[in-house]
Amino acid sequence: KANRMFKPESTVVEVNGRKIGEGYFCVITGPCSVESEEQILTIAEEVKKNGATFLRGGAYKPRTSPYSFQGLGLEGLEYLKHAREKTGLPIVSEIMSPDMVEKFVEDVDIIQVGARNMQNFVLLKELGKTRKPILLKRGLAATIEEWLMSAEYILNEGNPNVILCERGIRTFETYTRNTLDLSAVVAVKKLSHLPVIVDPSHGTGKAWMVEAMSKAAAVAGADGLIIEVHNNPKKALCDGQQSITPNEFSRLMEKLRKLLEIE
Ligand code: PEP
Ligand code: MN
Repeated sequence: KANRMFKPESTVVEVNGRKIGEGYFCVITGPCSVESEEQILTIAEEVKKNGATFLRGGAYKPRTSPYSFQGLGLEGLEYLKHAREKTGLPIVSEIMSPDMVEKFVEDVDIIQVGARNMQNFVLLKELGKTRKPILLKRGLAATIEEWLMSAEYILNEGNPNVILCERGIRTFETYTRNTLDLSAVVAVKKLSHLPVIVDPSHGTGKAWMVEAMSKAAAVAGADGLIIEVHNNPKKALCDGQQSITPNEFSRLMEKLRKLLEIE
């Protein structure tokens, strides 16, 4: 069902009038995790001013260590909703388990499935029973085919609204956090009709590399970006080293506008 051979026309996922998938470049930005109401409101207003089209923020965080900050949970979702009310930006947040599906369907505009849950098939099937737009990240070490098969789990249950996200894969290279596989964007656009966006933040793990890889992703044909922006990256509770500041985001957007000839 994800295969372009059987559905030649590109899938367009519509979220609050924003048509992701054809001719529209979506820019999803915000902090890795929602840290406080003030933090998410400040960032939301800054990124909105600079052309972000969606606000992202993790309420539940899949951390490698159980001793790292795990997210604010339900409280985080409430703060995100306030930020949506204030700015009008639709919100994106990561789901962790099937028992959260109902809550996320109600609260957020796009449900993110993180790399670590790409093969949580029980979760994928539950999400497939809804009509909610799903942002499906590529697994840490997933092949393109495995990634598309995970999309298939959602589509097969009846939900056509899947957006794929290349976020880097694990290779022998350790200089970058992951190896951002932009060739996967080109491959997936040919193999599948689903929209594909790129995450240069997790893809590199380095804030200073985000601009170059964002431009490269846009030129490679991605339908959008998901970028971590934090008002004080040094103090961020999660992924500070790869987060850019609102000022850096503003400069990046200026360059992207020129590159893509968008507003
Ligand atoms: C995130 O978006 O903050 C995240 C945890 O990403 P990934 O699932 O790609 O590691
Ligand atoms: Mn993160």
